[in-house]
Amino acid sequence: SNEQIALFTIFGGTGDLAQRKLYPSLFRLFRKGFLKERFAVIGTARREWSHEYYRDIVRGTIQELEPTEKELADFTSHFYYQAHNVTDTEHYHNLKVLATELDRKYQLDNNRIFYLAMAPNFFGVITEHLKSEQIITENGFNRLIIEKPFGTDYQSAEKLNNEIRAVFEEDQIFRIDHYLGKEMIQNISAVRFGNNIFESLWNNKYIDNIQVTLSESLGVEERGGYYDKSGALKDMVQNHILQVVSLLVMEPPAIFSEKTIREEKVKALNSIRVYSEKEAMKNFVRGQYGPGQLDGKSFISYRDETNVEPESQTETFVAGKLVVDNFRWRGVPFYIRTGKQLTEKGTRINVVFKPTPINVFRDPSENACDAEDIPRNILTIYIQPTEGFQLTLNGKEIGSGFNIDPIKLDYRHSAESLDNSPEAYEKLILDCLQGDGTNFTHWDEVAQSWRIVDVIRHAWDKETPDFPNYPSGTMGPQCAFDLLSRDGFEWIWHP
Ligand code: NAD
Repeated sequence: SNEQIALFTIFGGTGDLAQRKLYPSLFRLFRKGFLKERFAVIGTARREWSHEYYRDIVRGTIQELEPTEKELADFTSHFYYQAHNVTDTEHYHNLKVLATELDRKYQLDNNRIFYLAMAPNFFGVITEHLKSEQIITENGFNRLIIEKPFGTDYQSAEKLNNEIRAVFEEDQIFRIDHYLGKEMIQNISAVRFGNNIFESLWNNKYIDNIQVTLSESLGVEERGGYYDKSGALKDMVQNHILQVVSLLVMEPPAIFSEKTIREEKVKALNSIRVYSEKEAMKNFVRGQYGPGQLDGKSFISYRDETNVEPESQTETFVAGKLVVDNFRWRGVPFYIRTGKQLTEKGTRINVVFKPTPINVFRDPSENACDAEDIPRNILTIYIQPTEGFQLTLNGKEIGSGFNIDPIKLDYRHSAESLDNSPEAYEKLILDCLQGDGTNFTHWDEVAQSWRIVDVIRHAWDKETPDFPNYPSGTMGPQCAFDLLSRDGFEWIWHP
């Protein structure tokens, strides 16, 4: 049977993440039979709630999944609430008593998942107490799920990691990067490793440049307070973008497994050049949105958003060029960009191939025979909101003349099949139940990503940016376009 057996303890059980993502995901797993009789959930937070009140809240969070009355009753009966201040040692005693009781009642085999849906500054105090108050069990599994952000730079990340590692082994720690999800790793890997026609061209002999865009069409919305202290570099590049790049850069693993993929991703990240501050200034640019208009709607500037400093120097846009120092990628730039309030929402990768060695269709009276004017082959991997890929090839224009005409082979999964596919958190929680860490970030990856990003941050912090520098509803500031044109390239959005 598929049934998974565990006690979940959710720290921050009254919070936004728990209510919007975790409870609905647990319910989906329940409905699919991954959770049946032998699971229980303890929600903790400072507020004094009864089990009944907590169950009503959980009930409310899954309404839109249209559960039957019986499903609702069965599912929520596994939920228990414990008022708990994470800094109060006494409270862990109550937690332990309840956990032991539930373990017995539901025969949970001492399997425990601790989900820290709280601000990271509490992670250390929680894990320390889990150990000292013996809430970690001797003979079941004990796993820790934590959310981003994992530190604010290398130093703070290392400190946080040391605190957690004092209690949990690396393979017990599940660092969520919800962007990563299974689908993306599988998508990129399927295209690369399932198609010899691509993998055999996947190097500096045939590829000109690779572009990764994570574009958002919204502003900061209600996250202004958090975002203004973070910015796009830390919020998006350090984690999501470098994860995508590592999947593109990595060597093919001998077998598709958690361990091998992780090893290859770490090697890939280690081969991305850590710039000097001078190189960082040359190869990375930033932006902040000003007011703008799109599709008849008007948008305010970032500095006018709620909880944002009126003179904020926080970047809402980053573009950069990464250099990979290894045999495979020497000379191939990886351009990345991400931003808020851009023209369109979407995550996509464009692999731009080199032109043919010569242009055999050239005018014979001309001596120049390079093929610069033949359109490039482009492989586009769509990740969000639609998934699929497209290949741009050259054919012949219909008619009596002889003109090259680019055609597009396009495959997208239907919106319907995507609707039926499991939600990111659902998959990640199931992975954790099954002990599969493939889709979570290993410390070595976090550490190297910070090393790459820290230099850029330090370099930027020494200068005052000229913000705002792009209108809402555009694809970012001019400097992001110059970054590519200086190398003779341009951003591809609709190939
Ligand atoms: P939130 O503020 O909505 O919830 C925080 C929870 O912690 C609440 O339940 C609160 O009662 C509890 N809490 C605070 N101090 C406590 C204490 N001393 N003792 C016990 N409980 C205490 O926050 P959130 O949006 O749910 O985010 C939680 C974490 O997840 C954060 O680290 C955040 O960065 C991360 N995250 C959230 C989302 C999201 O969609 N909300 C997405 C990605 C990452």
